[in-house]
Amino acid sequence: MKECIVCKKSHNEIPLTSFIYKETSFWICPQHIPILIHSPQKLADLLPGADQFEGAAH
Ligand SMILES: [Zn+2]
Repeated sequence: MKECIVCKKSHNEIPLTSFIYKETSFWICPQHIPILIHSPQKLADLLPGADQFEGAAH
């Protein structure tokens, strides 16, 4: 199921973009891409190890 990992909206509701992390493809909507860029730690529950990412701005 292609859905935003944050808000769970499907590709039928909103454009989704995919990214690959540790050999797994994930989908995220434009609304939540900034979280991935600036606050990836908030995705640690969804992406194991995301709390180790270096955010773009702190
Ligand atoms: Zn979303």
